[in-house]
Amino acid sequence: MFWKNLTVRFKQTRLRLILIVTLVAAAASTLVFGILLTVLLRGFEMQDRMELDSRLLSYWAAWQYGGDQAVIDRASEDMKKHGGRPFLLMLKSPEDEILCALVPGAWEVFNLEDSMLEFLQPGTYVTLKKDGLGYDLRISGSKLDDGSRLMVGLSTENRQFLLSMYRRNYPWVLGAIIIAGLSVGFFSSRRLLAPIIRLNREIDRIIVTGELSRRLDNRGTNDELDELISRYNRLLERVENLISGMKGTLDAVAHDLRTPLTRLRGHAEMALQSAASVKPDEYAEVLATVVEQTDQAVALLSALMDISEAEQSTLHLDLEDCDLSLLASQVCDMYAFVAEEKNQSLKLDAPGPVPVKGDPVRLRQVLGNLLDNAVKYSPDGGSIVVRCSRNEDWGLFEVTDEGPGVPEEERGRIFERLYRGDRSRGSRGLGLGLSLVQALSAAHKGMAGMEPAPGGTGSRFFVKIPANISHS
Ligand code: ADP
Repeated sequence: MFWKNLTVRFKQTRLRLILIVTLVAAAASTLVFGILLTVLLRGFEMQDRMELDSRLLSYWAAWQYGGDQAVIDRASEDMKKHGGRPFLLMLKSPEDEILCALVPGAWEVFNLEDSMLEFLQPGTYVTLKKDGLGYDLRISGSKLDDGSRLMVGLSTENRQFLLSMYRRNYPWVLGAIIIAGLSVGFFSSRRLLAPIIRLNREIDRIIVTGELSRRLDNRGTNDELDELISRYNRLLERVENLISGMKGTLDAVAHDLRTPLTRLRGHAEMALQSAASVKPDEYAEVLATVVEQTDQAVALLSALMDISEAEQSTLHLDLEDCDLSLLASQVCDMYAFVAEEKNQSLKLDAPGPVPVKGDPVRLRQVLGNLLDNAVKYSPDGGSIVVRCSRNEDWGLFEVTDEGPGVPEEERGRIFERLYRGDRSRGSRGLGLGLSLVQALSAAHKGMAGMEPAPGGTGSRFFVKIPANISHS
């Protein structure tokens, strides 16, 4: 269903892309045509005005030179000469009598007695309109020295012609542009979406086959799609690692649980088989072993649960102001006896209080795990130094031991769940101590780390807890 929806969505994306390309092409061409038309119409208008001005000047000069007759002669000469474009000429006496009139037949419908025409001067124009006629008449004029009036006029037919050409032809042009836009959109969207469709198919295949090791080839174009493919590959890698990590954890937990449970079952079975002859104190011994094995299984499970709750920020912390130095001295007291048994010297170097905000129980658990490892992995007679210090932002807790240290190739893994170093297999432990240290430090918005002990064998484990932070 999801994939069906996704396919539909891809189709929609493609359709949208095609429509966008077409619309943009149509809008851009309409804009360009519109601008072109406006420029041409403006040009025609300016040309008309210039022609009107020059005709007016020419008839005015003729009148100055030879009076009314000269104007009439010039007009008939112009008609012969220009022939092509019709024009209007009217000369009216001061008494408004028409002395000379040259009005093309079709223009007689315009109101040439319009009162606006009386005020015309060179450089001013009056446009006469007539409903139902496809064009206007533009007139300019001038008063002559004896009070007569001279008027010249031209029609806007040329512009009207251009407009009607545009109206008639543009739908065809637009149609062609739309078809071109649709085809360009169709082919370019196919090209553009091809890698996404491929990615989609690849994801589909992974879902069906579960082959998380499959990777998509980069096209080598270094564009956004290539970036998407690399990210997708990285995501797959991460998911693959997580899943194999989870599988590993599950295997290890199963393995670690099997031992105490098998022992538990063995003891119980033995007790049952020889039930009649078993004495009460032997029963108590068997039950003690059962309790011990159960404790081991429960410890493993609760440590695992604590780690995952701390990692998912669902672990409840009772935060309060605490002194890391005080907690360290309490934990050192707890381990003094074990260290003494191994003849180890355990020294606490805490010159003053180290105030941090934290859950004292959990912080004691963190310090205890580090100290437990130091005692466990240090040889008999070794020395362990616990140091507490502070700066403005952090409280720092360090445990330095003279143990075997952690080989370089293991350093990146010791904080992983259930990871145990090769050399530690013989010693007791679940491989969860350091992951709990790290998860709890992170839950306190702090951090945990390890480095080789300065100057010699051994290691230095440290935990930084923020001095005063707001936990959300
Ligand atoms: P565990 O101690 O139960 O094995 P941890 O998570 O506490 O598990 O530690 C993981 C691994 O880190 C150990 O198996 C060991 O190899 C290594 N390690 C931890 N602490 C020390 C230490 N102080 N010195 C040397 N190796 C250590």
